[in-house]
Amino acid sequence: MNDRVIIVGGGPVGLVTALNLVRAGVPVTVLERAAQMHAEPRASTFHAPTLELLDTLGLTEKLIALGRPAPQWQYRMFETGEAAVFDMTLIAHETRYPFRLQCEQFNLVKVAVEALNREAPGAVLFGADVTDFAQSKDGVRVTFTHNNTSQTLDGAWLIAADGAASTVRTKLGISFEGSTYPQVSFTVGTTFPLHDHMTGLLGVNYFWSDFGPWGQFRTGLMWRVGWSPPPDSINEDVLSDDVVQAKLAKICPAGAPYDLITARLYRVHRRIAGTFYQGRIILVGDAAHLNSPTGGFGMNGGVQDAFNLTSKLVKILNGAASEPLLDHYTRQRRSAAVDDIQSTSDTNYRRHREKDADKRREALKDLQAITADPDKHRAYLLDNALITSYRRSEAMS
Ligand SMILES: Cc1cc2nc3c(=O)[nH]c(=O)nc-3n(C[C@H](O)[C@H](O)[C@H](O)COP(=O)(O)OP(=O)(O)OC[C@H]3O[C@@H](n4cnc5c(N)ncnc54)[C@H](O)[C@@H]3O)c2cc1C
Repeated sequence: MNDRVIIVGGGPVGLVTALNLVRAGVPVTVLERAAQMHAEPRASTFHAPTLELLDTLGLTEKLIALGRPAPQWQYRMFETGEAAVFDMTLIAHETRYPFRLQCEQFNLVKVAVEALNREAPGAVLFGADVTDFAQSKDGVRVTFTHNNTSQTLDGAWLIAADGAASTVRTKLGISFEGSTYPQVSFTVGTTFPLHDHMTGLLGVNYFWSDFGPWGQFRTGLMWRVGWSPPPDSINEDVLSDDVVQAKLAKICPAGAPYDLITARLYRVHRRIAGTFYQGRIILVGDAAHLNSPTGGFGMNGGVQDAFNLTSKLVKILNGAASEPLLDHYTRQRRSAAVDDIQSTSDTNYRRHREKDADKRREALKDLQAITADPDKHRAYLLDNALITSYRRSEAMS
Protein backbone atom coordinates (compact mmCIF):
# COMPACT_ATOMS: atom_id res chain seq x y z
CA MET A 1 0.00 0.00 0.00
CA ASN A 2 1.12 3.60 -0.69
CA ASP A 3 1.79 5.12 2.74
CA ARG A 4 2.95 8.49 1.42
CA VAL A 5 1.62 11.56 3.19
CA ILE A 6 1.32 14.56 0.89
CA ILE A 7 1.54 17.94 2.54
CA VAL A 8 0.35 21.07 0.74
CA GLY A 9 2.32 24.09 1.94
CA GLY A 10 5.92 24.45 3.05
CA GLY A 11 5.34 27.09 5.71
CA PRO A 12 6.42 26.48 9.31
CA VAL A 13 3.48 24.17 10.05
CA GLY A 14 3.72 22.01 6.92
CA LEU A 15 7.45 21.55 7.35
CA VAL A 16 7.26 20.61 11.04
CA THR A 17 4.49 18.16 10.16
CA ALA A 18 6.75 16.69 7.47
CA LEU A 19 9.79 16.39 9.71
CA ASN A 20 7.78 14.61 12.41
CA LEU A 21 6.53 12.08 9.87
CA VAL A 22 9.97 11.57 8.33
CA ARG A 23 11.38 10.87 11.81
CA ALA A 24 8.68 8.21 12.22
CA GLY A 25 9.74 6.58 8.95
CA VAL A 26 6.74 7.78 6.94
CA PRO A 27 7.36 8.75 3.28
CA VAL A 28 6.42 12.40 2.80
CA THR A 29 6.17 14.93 -0.02
CA VAL A 30 5.73 18.63 0.69
CA LEU A 31 4.36 20.61 -2.26
CA GLU A 32 5.15 24.32 -1.88
CA ARG A 33 3.87 26.88 -4.36
CA ALA A 34 6.71 29.38 -3.85
CA ALA A 35 9.86 28.87 -5.91
CA GLN A 36 11.99 29.09 -2.79
CA MET A 37 11.71 29.47 0.97
CA HIS A 38 9.74 32.58 2.00
CA ALA A 39 11.94 35.39 3.30
CA GLU A 40 9.04 37.23 4.99
CA PRO A 41 9.65 37.50 8.78
CA ARG A 42 5.93 37.36 9.90
CA ALA A 43 5.87 35.47 13.23
CA SER A 44 8.60 36.42 15.66
CA THR A 45 7.51 34.92 18.98
CA PHE A 46 8.08 31.27 19.87
CA HIS A 47 6.49 30.23 23.17
CA ALA A 48 7.77 27.68 25.68
CA PRO A 49 5.63 24.60 24.77
CA THR A 50 6.50 25.07 21.09
CA LEU A 51 10.20 25.25 21.93
CA GLU A 52 9.88 22.05 23.97
CA LEU A 53 8.19 20.28 21.06
CA LEU A 54 10.69 21.57 18.50
CA ASP A 55 13.50 20.40 20.77
CA THR A 56 12.37 16.81 20.16
CA LEU A 57 13.27 17.47 16.50
CA GLY A 58 16.63 19.04 17.45
CA LEU A 59 15.55 22.48 16.16
CA THR A 60 15.25 24.57 19.32
CA GLU A 61 18.94 25.19 20.02
CA LYS A 62 19.33 26.26 16.38
CA LEU A 63 16.46 28.72 16.70
CA ILE A 64 17.80 30.10 19.98
CA ALA A 65 21.17 30.68 18.27
CA LEU A 66 19.38 32.57 15.46
CA GLY A 67 16.99 34.51 17.70
CA ARG A 68 16.94 36.40 20.98
CA PRO A 69 15.29 35.16 24.19
CA ALA A 70 13.09 37.71 25.98
CA PRO A 71 12.70 36.60 29.62
CA GLN A 72 10.73 39.79 30.40
CA TRP A 73 8.13 41.65 28.38
CA GLN A 74 5.99 44.67 29.05
CA TYR A 75 3.05 46.95 28.39
CA ARG A 76 4.42 50.48 28.65
CA MET A 77 3.13 54.05 28.52
CA PHE A 78 5.41 55.83 26.05
CA GLU A 79 4.99 59.31 27.52
CA THR A 80 5.42 58.47 31.23
CA GLY A 81 7.43 55.22 31.19
CA GLU A 82 4.90 53.54 33.55
CA ALA A 83 4.88 49.81 32.81
CA ALA A 84 3.56 46.38 33.72
CA VAL A 85 6.52 44.03 33.38
CA PHE A 86 5.91 40.30 32.99
CA ASP A 87 8.74 38.09 34.16
CA MET A 88 8.95 34.60 32.71
CA THR A 89 11.62 33.56 35.21
CA LEU A 90 8.72 33.22 37.70
CA ILE A 91 7.66 30.08 35.81
CA ALA A 92 11.17 28.68 35.37
CA HIS A 93 10.05 25.55 37.27
CA GLU A 94 7.30 24.94 34.66
CA THR A 95 9.42 24.88 31.49
CA ARG A 96 12.98 24.52 30.26
CA TYR A 97 12.41 27.67 28.21
CA PRO A 98 11.22 30.44 30.56
CA PHE A 99 11.25 33.16 27.90
CA ARG A 100 9.63 34.24 24.64
CA LEU A 101 12.07 33.49 21.86
CA GLN A 102 12.05 36.34 19.34
CA CYS A 103 13.08 34.77 16.06
CA GLU A 104 11.61 35.25 12.57
CA GLN A 105 9.47 32.35 11.30
CA PHE A 106 11.69 32.09 8.21
CA ASN A 107 14.36 30.69 10.54
CA LEU A 108 12.09 27.76 11.44
CA VAL A 109 11.38 27.23 7.75
CA LYS A 110 15.12 27.26 7.03
CA VAL A 111 16.20 24.81 9.76
CA ALA A 112 13.28 22.48 8.97
CA VAL A 113 14.06 22.45 5.23
CA GLU A 114 17.73 21.79 5.99
CA ALA A 115 16.79 18.82 8.20
CA LEU A 116 14.37 17.45 5.59
CA ASN A 117 16.92 17.83 2.79
CA ARG A 118 19.42 15.86 4.90
CA GLU A 119 17.06 13.14 6.08
CA ALA A 120 14.65 12.81 3.17
CA PRO A 121 16.24 14.35 0.07
CA GLY A 122 13.61 15.42 -2.45
CA ALA A 123 10.80 15.50 0.13
CA VAL A 124 10.24 19.23 -0.33
CA LEU A 125 9.27 20.34 -3.82
CA PHE A 126 9.34 24.11 -4.34
CA GLY A 127 7.43 25.72 -7.22
CA ALA A 128 4.68 23.08 -6.90
CA ASP A 129 1.26 24.73 -6.94
CA VAL A 130 -1.54 22.38 -5.87
CA THR A 131 -4.57 22.97 -8.06
CA ASP A 132 -6.80 19.98 -7.40
CA PHE A 133 -7.16 16.71 -5.51
CA ALA A 134 -9.45 13.73 -5.13
CA GLN A 135 -9.87 11.13 -2.45
CA SER A 136 -11.19 7.59 -2.16
CA LYS A 137 -11.55 5.42 0.93
CA ASP A 138 -7.98 4.19 0.44
CA GLY A 139 -6.01 7.25 -0.59
CA VAL A 140 -5.65 10.61 -2.25
CA ARG A 141 -4.53 11.90 -5.64
CA VAL A 142 -3.13 15.42 -5.77
CA THR A 143 -2.77 17.49 -8.94
CA PHE A 144 -0.17 20.22 -9.04
CA THR A 145 1.67 22.40 -11.53
CA HIS A 146 5.45 22.22 -11.53
CA ASN A 147 7.75 23.67 -14.20
CA ASN A 148 4.64 24.59 -16.23
CA THR A 149 3.45 20.98 -16.40
CA SER A 150 0.51 19.46 -14.63
CA GLN A 151 1.44 16.41 -12.56
CA THR A 152 -0.28 14.06 -10.12
CA LEU A 153 0.93 12.34 -6.99
CA ASP A 154 -0.79 9.54 -5.08
CA GLY A 155 -0.67 9.10 -1.33
CA ALA A 156 -2.48 7.73 1.67
CA TRP A 157 -3.30 11.07 3.29
CA LEU A 158 -3.32 14.74 2.33
CA ILE A 159 -2.44 17.37 4.92
CA ALA A 160 -3.49 20.93 4.11
CA ALA A 161 -0.92 23.32 5.60
CA ASP A 162 -1.58 25.85 2.87
CA GLY A 163 -2.30 28.84 5.06
CA ALA A 164 -5.14 31.31 5.55
CA ALA A 165 -6.45 31.21 1.97
CA SER A 166 -6.16 27.40 1.84
CA THR A 167 -7.01 26.03 -1.60
CA VAL A 168 -7.71 22.64 -0.05
CA ARG A 169 -10.13 23.92 2.60
CA THR A 170 -11.92 26.06 0.01
CA LYS A 171 -12.25 23.24 -2.54
CA LEU A 172 -13.57 20.90 0.15
CA GLY A 173 -16.25 23.48 0.94
CA ILE A 174 -15.31 23.53 4.63
CA SER A 175 -16.65 26.68 6.27
CA PHE A 176 -14.22 29.22 7.72
CA GLU A 177 -16.47 31.21 9.99
CA GLY A 178 -15.50 34.28 11.92
CA SER A 179 -14.68 37.86 11.15
CA THR A 180 -12.02 40.23 9.92
CA TYR A 181 -10.85 42.91 12.34
CA PRO A 182 -11.49 46.47 11.11
CA GLN A 183 -7.86 47.42 11.63
CA VAL A 184 -4.95 46.09 9.61
CA SER A 185 -1.46 45.50 10.99
CA PHE A 186 1.53 47.17 9.46
CA THR A 187 4.95 45.77 10.42
CA VAL A 188 8.39 47.05 9.57
CA GLY A 189 11.85 45.76 10.41
CA THR A 190 14.92 47.90 10.99
CA THR A 191 18.52 47.25 12.02
CA PHE A 192 18.66 50.67 13.73
CA PRO A 193 19.73 49.97 17.37
CA LEU A 194 16.61 51.29 19.08
CA HIS A 195 17.87 49.75 22.35
CA ASP A 196 20.72 52.33 22.39
CA HIS A 197 18.32 55.23 21.91
CA MET A 198 15.19 54.41 23.95
CA THR A 199 15.15 53.89 27.70
CA GLY A 200 13.45 50.97 29.44
CA LEU A 201 13.14 48.71 26.40
CA LEU A 202 12.78 44.96 26.84
CA GLY A 203 12.83 42.32 24.10
CA VAL A 204 9.03 42.51 23.75
CA ASN A 205 7.22 45.82 24.28
CA TYR A 206 3.57 46.76 23.80
CA PHE A 207 3.54 50.56 23.82
CA TRP A 208 0.59 52.85 24.47
CA SER A 209 0.98 56.48 23.46
CA ASP A 210 -1.06 59.58 22.70
CA PHE A 211 -0.34 58.96 18.99
CA GLY A 212 -1.49 55.33 19.00
CA PRO A 213 -0.23 51.94 20.15
CA TRP A 214 2.55 49.84 18.66
CA GLY A 215 4.45 46.63 19.34
CA GLN A 216 8.24 46.61 19.34
CA PHE A 217 10.14 43.33 19.30
CA ARG A 218 13.87 42.64 19.13
CA THR A 219 14.91 39.52 17.21
CA GLY A 220 18.45 38.34 16.50
CA LEU A 221 18.46 40.38 13.28
CA MET A 222 16.35 43.47 13.73
CA TRP A 223 13.79 45.46 15.62
CA ARG A 224 10.25 44.72 14.41
CA VAL A 225 7.83 47.58 14.92
CA GLY A 226 4.14 47.00 14.20
CA TRP A 227 1.12 49.29 14.38
CA SER A 228 -2.39 49.65 12.98
CA PRO A 229 -2.93 52.62 10.68
CA PRO A 230 -6.48 54.02 11.05
CA PRO A 231 -8.87 51.98 8.83
CA ASP A 232 -9.97 55.10 6.90
CA SER A 233 -6.35 55.89 5.96
CA ILE A 234 -5.54 52.60 4.25
CA ASN A 235 -4.35 53.63 0.87
CA GLU A 236 -0.98 53.66 -0.76
CA ASP A 237 0.07 56.74 1.23
CA VAL A 238 0.00 54.84 4.48
CA LEU A 239 2.74 52.60 3.15
CA SER A 240 4.79 55.43 1.73
CA ASP A 241 8.29 55.84 3.02
CA ASP A 242 7.54 59.38 4.27
CA VAL A 243 4.61 58.25 6.42
CA VAL A 244 6.53 55.28 7.82
CA GLN A 245 9.65 57.36 8.52
CA ALA A 246 7.56 60.02 10.25
CA LYS A 247 5.91 57.40 12.48
CA LEU A 248 9.26 55.86 13.41
CA ALA A 249 10.77 59.30 14.09
CA LYS A 250 7.97 59.93 16.61
CA ILE A 251 8.84 56.68 18.36
CA CYS A 252 12.55 57.44 18.31
CA PRO A 253 14.19 60.25 16.29
CA ALA A 254 17.07 58.54 14.52
CA GLY A 255 18.55 61.70 13.01
CA ALA A 256 18.45 60.09 9.56
CA PRO A 257 15.97 57.90 7.67
CA TYR A 258 15.55 54.44 9.14
CA ASP A 259 16.91 51.56 7.10
CA LEU A 260 13.84 49.38 6.53
CA ILE A 261 14.61 45.77 5.73
CA THR A 262 10.96 44.70 5.69
CA ALA A 263 7.59 46.46 5.52
CA ARG A 264 4.29 44.59 5.16
CA LEU A 265 0.60 45.24 5.63
CA TYR A 266 -1.56 42.37 6.96
CA ARG A 267 -5.29 41.88 7.34
CA VAL A 268 -6.18 40.38 10.71
CA HIS A 269 -8.85 37.69 11.05
CA ARG A 270 -10.46 35.52 13.69
CA ARG A 271 -11.71 32.40 11.92
CA ILE A 272 -12.16 28.69 12.50
CA ALA A 273 -12.69 25.81 10.07
CA GLY A 274 -16.00 23.94 10.46
CA THR A 275 -14.09 20.66 10.70
CA PHE A 276 -10.37 19.90 10.80
CA TYR A 277 -10.65 16.83 8.55
CA GLN A 278 -12.77 15.32 5.84
CA GLY A 279 -12.05 11.69 4.94
CA ARG A 280 -8.32 11.47 4.23
CA ILE A 281 -7.69 15.20 4.11
CA ILE A 282 -6.66 17.02 7.28
CA LEU A 283 -6.22 20.74 8.01
CA VAL A 284 -3.43 22.17 10.18
CA GLY A 285 -2.18 25.64 11.11
CA ASP A 286 -3.59 28.76 9.46
CA ALA A 287 -5.58 26.60 7.04
CA ALA A 288 -7.64 25.55 10.09
CA HIS A 289 -7.68 28.65 12.30
CA LEU A 290 -6.72 32.32 12.37
CA ASN A 291 -6.32 34.74 15.24
CA SER A 292 -5.00 38.25 15.85
CA PRO A 293 -1.20 38.32 16.03
CA THR A 294 -1.17 40.16 19.39
CA GLY A 295 0.59 37.78 21.76
CA GLY A 296 2.26 35.72 19.04
CA PHE A 297 0.10 32.60 18.97
CA GLY A 298 -0.80 31.62 15.37
CA MET A 299 2.34 29.77 14.31
CA ASN A 300 2.76 28.36 17.83
CA GLY A 301 -0.74 26.92 17.70
CA GLY A 302 -0.07 25.54 14.23
CA VAL A 303 3.15 23.83 15.30
CA GLN A 304 1.28 22.34 18.26
CA ASP A 305 -1.38 21.06 15.80
CA ALA A 306 1.42 19.45 13.78
CA PHE A 307 2.78 17.47 16.74
CA ASN A 308 -0.66 16.44 17.95
CA LEU A 309 -1.74 15.30 14.49
CA THR A 310 1.41 13.45 13.50
CA SER A 311 1.52 11.37 16.69
CA LYS A 312 -2.02 10.19 15.87
CA LEU A 313 -1.46 9.75 12.14
CA VAL A 314 1.61 7.58 12.72
CA LYS A 315 -0.53 5.28 14.90
CA ILE A 316 -3.14 5.11 12.16
CA LEU A 317 -0.51 4.37 9.49
CA ASN A 318 0.97 1.63 11.69
CA GLY A 319 -2.47 0.07 12.08
CA ALA A 320 -2.39 0.72 15.84
CA ALA A 321 -5.45 2.98 15.76
CA SER A 322 -8.19 4.06 13.44
CA GLU A 323 -9.64 7.20 11.97
CA PRO A 324 -11.64 8.21 15.09
CA LEU A 325 -8.28 9.44 16.39
CA LEU A 326 -8.74 12.30 13.95
CA ASP A 327 -11.91 13.30 15.80
CA HIS A 328 -9.73 13.47 18.89
CA TYR A 329 -7.23 15.67 17.01
CA THR A 330 -10.08 17.96 15.95
CA ARG A 331 -11.53 18.19 19.48
CA GLN A 332 -8.20 18.96 21.10
CA ARG A 333 -6.80 21.42 18.59
CA ARG A 334 -10.11 23.15 17.78
CA SER A 335 -10.61 23.79 21.46
CA ALA A 336 -7.05 25.15 21.82
CA ALA A 337 -7.66 27.44 18.82
CA VAL A 338 -11.07 28.75 19.91
CA ASP A 339 -11.11 28.61 23.71
CA ASP A 340 -7.52 29.68 24.34
CA ILE A 341 -5.72 31.17 21.35
CA GLN A 342 -8.50 33.18 19.72
CA SER A 343 -9.91 34.30 23.02
CA THR A 344 -6.60 35.41 24.60
CA SER A 345 -5.31 37.05 21.41
CA ASP A 346 -8.63 38.91 21.02
CA THR A 347 -8.38 40.23 24.59
CA ASN A 348 -4.76 41.26 23.94
CA TYR A 349 -5.67 42.88 20.62
CA ARG A 350 -8.54 44.94 22.03
CA ARG A 351 -6.66 45.98 25.14
CA HIS A 352 -3.64 47.13 23.18
CA ARG A 353 -5.73 49.13 20.70
CA GLU A 354 -7.87 50.88 23.33
CA LYS A 355 -8.43 54.44 22.11
CA ASP A 356 -9.73 55.97 25.35
CA ALA A 357 -6.82 57.28 27.45
CA ASP A 358 -8.67 56.63 30.76
CA LYS A 359 -9.42 53.05 29.75
CA ARG A 360 -5.77 52.53 28.77
CA ARG A 361 -4.72 53.79 32.20
CA GLU A 362 -7.22 51.37 33.81
CA ALA A 363 -5.89 48.52 31.67
CA LEU A 364 -2.34 49.30 32.76
CA LYS A 365 -3.45 49.37 36.42
CA ASP A 366 -5.14 45.98 35.97
CA LEU A 367 -1.98 44.53 34.44
CA GLN A 368 0.17 46.04 37.20
CA ALA A 369 -2.17 44.46 39.78
CA ILE A 370 -1.54 41.10 38.10
CA THR A 371 2.24 41.52 38.16
CA ALA A 372 2.07 42.58 41.84
CA ASP A 373 0.38 39.31 42.85
CA PRO A 374 2.73 36.30 42.39
CA ASP A 375 -0.11 33.77 41.89
CA LYS A 376 -1.95 35.93 39.34
CA HIS A 377 1.33 36.80 37.66
CA ARG A 378 2.26 33.11 37.24
CA ALA A 379 -1.24 32.23 35.96
CA TYR A 380 -1.10 35.08 33.44
CA LEU A 381 2.30 33.94 32.22
CA LEU A 382 1.13 30.34 31.86
CA ASP A 383 -1.87 31.53 29.81
CA ASN A 384 0.09 33.93 27.62
CA ALA A 385 2.90 31.45 26.95
CA LEU A 386 0.23 28.92 25.82
CA ILE A 387 1.39 26.52 28.54
CA THR A 388 -2.09 26.23 30.08
CA SER A 389 -3.64 25.83 26.64
CA TYR A 390 -1.21 23.14 25.54
CA ARG A 391 -1.60 21.13 28.75
CA ARG A 392 -5.39 21.49 28.79
CA SER A 393 -5.88 20.48 25.17
CA GLU A 394 -3.48 17.53 25.41
CA ALA A 395 -5.38 16.30 28.49
CA MET A 396 -8.77 16.44 26.68
CA SER A 397 -10.29 13.07 25.91
C1 LIG B 1 2.21 40.46 11.38
C2 LIG B 1 2.10 39.04 11.87
C3 LIG B 1 2.82 38.68 12.99
C4 LIG B 1 2.71 37.38 13.48
N1 LIG B 1 3.42 37.05 14.60
C5 LIG B 1 3.30 35.82 15.09
C6 LIG B 1 4.08 35.44 16.21
O1 LIG B 1 4.89 36.23 16.73
N2 LIG B 1 3.95 34.17 16.69
C7 LIG B 1 3.08 33.29 16.12
O2 LIG B 1 2.98 32.17 16.62
N3 LIG B 1 2.36 33.60 15.03
C8 LIG B 1 2.46 34.84 14.50
N4 LIG B 1 1.79 35.15 13.36
C9 LIG B 1 0.98 34.12 12.68
C10 LIG B 1 1.88 33.23 11.81
O3 LIG B 1 2.60 34.00 10.88
C11 LIG B 1 1.04 32.18 11.09
O4 LIG B 1 0.18 31.59 12.04
C12 LIG B 1 1.91 31.12 10.43
O5 LIG B 1 2.58 31.61 9.30
C13 LIG B 1 1.07 29.91 9.99
O6 LIG B 1 1.89 28.96 9.39
P1 LIG B 1 1.31 27.95 8.31
O7 LIG B 1 2.47 27.09 7.92
O8 LIG B 1 0.06 27.33 8.80
O9 LIG B 1 0.86 28.87 7.08
P2 LIG B 1 1.76 29.78 6.13
O10 LIG B 1 2.94 30.31 6.87
O11 LIG B 1 0.83 30.76 5.53
O12 LIG B 1 2.29 28.79 5.03
C14 LIG B 1 1.43 28.27 4.04
C15 LIG B 1 2.29 27.84 2.87
O13 LIG B 1 1.46 27.18 1.90
C16 LIG B 1 1.87 27.60 0.59
N5 LIG B 1 0.71 27.40 -0.29
C17 LIG B 1 -0.47 28.06 -0.26
N6 LIG B 1 -1.30 27.56 -1.20
C18 LIG B 1 -0.63 26.57 -1.85
C19 LIG B 1 -0.94 25.71 -2.92
N7 LIG B 1 -2.14 25.72 -3.53
N8 LIG B 1 0.00 24.81 -3.34
C20 LIG B 1 1.20 24.75 -2.72
N9 LIG B 1 1.56 25.57 -1.70
C21 LIG B 1 0.65 26.46 -1.27
C22 LIG B 1 2.27 29.06 0.78
O14 LIG B 1 3.16 29.51 -0.23
C23 LIG B 1 2.95 29.01 2.15
O15 LIG B 1 4.34 28.77 2.07
C24 LIG B 1 1.87 36.44 12.84
C25 LIG B 1 1.15 36.81 11.70
C26 LIG B 1 1.27 38.09 11.22
C27 LIG B 1 0.50 38.47 10.00
